Amino acid sequence: SSFRKVNSLRPVISFRGFASQVKKDGRLAGKVALITGASSGIGKETSLLFAREGASLVLVDVDDKRGNEVTQAIKDMGAPAIYVHADVSKMKDSENMVAVAEKEYGKLNIVFNNAGISHADDDDAVKTSEEVFDLTMNINVKGVFAGCKYAVPALKRAGGGSIINTASFVAILGAATPQIAYTASKGAVLSMTRELAVIHAREGIRVNALCPGPLRTELLMKYLNTDEKKNRRLVHVPLGRFGEAAEIANGVLFLASDESSFVTGSTFLVDGGMSLSYLCFSSLEGITAAYVTPL
Ligand code: NAD
Repeated sequence: SSFRKVNSLRPVISFRGFASQVKKDGRLAGKVALITGASSGIGKETSLLFAREGASLVLVDVDDKRGNEVTQAIKDMGAPAIYVHADVSKMKDSENMVAVAEKEYGKLNIVFNNAGISHADDDDAVKTSEEVFDLTMNINVKGVFAGCKYAVPALKRAGGGSIINTASFVAILGAATPQIAYTASKGAVLSMTRELAVIHAREGIRVNALCPGPLRTELLMKYLNTDEKKNRRLVHVPLGRFGEAAEIANGVLFLASDESSFVTGSTFLVDGGMSLSYLCFSSLEGITAAYVTPL
């Protein structure tokens, strides 16, 4: 098939620390997991971690080159992995990714609806165009809806399972810098997740919203591209630094595994304490008063 052909490409990037092999008795041993947005950032780190913990993986993205590189790196660890191209905002693509997972592995236990965008032209309500708003909603909200729509019946067929939807701290706090479409989209992911959790609980399906704080990933660093912009954000983070994608992956692993068997509908914050601290005075040293002006 076409993915096998593309998968024969060797990775051109290295994956630090993950040369180690799959663990015996890993926390996801015997589970099949599908991860969207798996080519980069949180999705990539989660894919590598899940593989180490014994899961069989379906990696989904629109960036086929990087997606195939991550997939190959996982196969090199000795873990089963396939890459599927899917634009999560297209219902047919989302339906297909779930079908491929079941066809390849015979079941699906875990779905991480993580693909999302933060558009460079997303701004305040006055400046943001209809096109940017619609595109953001289509990927960030409709993409999660589509992932859940096809995942729920598949997880039921497997006797239950775990869905994790990536929202953001902005779903709870709003944002200090304007990004109206993104903020609205993550609020929608959070409330949609709460309903899903209640409606499908008796079917053995747990659904949780992952709310990462600001991370040192490409997505955010492209946007916070000066020290001034970075410090403006760090003032609000009690731990005083950006999170790492690998730290978010650890949270996802907990929600995906049976260790979280009594956790559903949760707003799972992995945010360095940001949501509890409007201003963290201990982190203000060295930052001029200009940054401290509340927005
Ligand atoms: P990233 O840009 O590194 O990765 C996102 C991946 O999603 C990319 O590989 C991209 O190709 C893929 N993607 C984009 N549109 C897609 C589509 N239509 N279909 C399939 N795949 C698509 O970003 P990240 O930081 O890893 O973000 C992952 C998730 O975490 C997003 O939902 C993001 O909103 C959320 N998040 C990120 C941060 C942060 O600080 N980076 C904070 C809170 C929440």
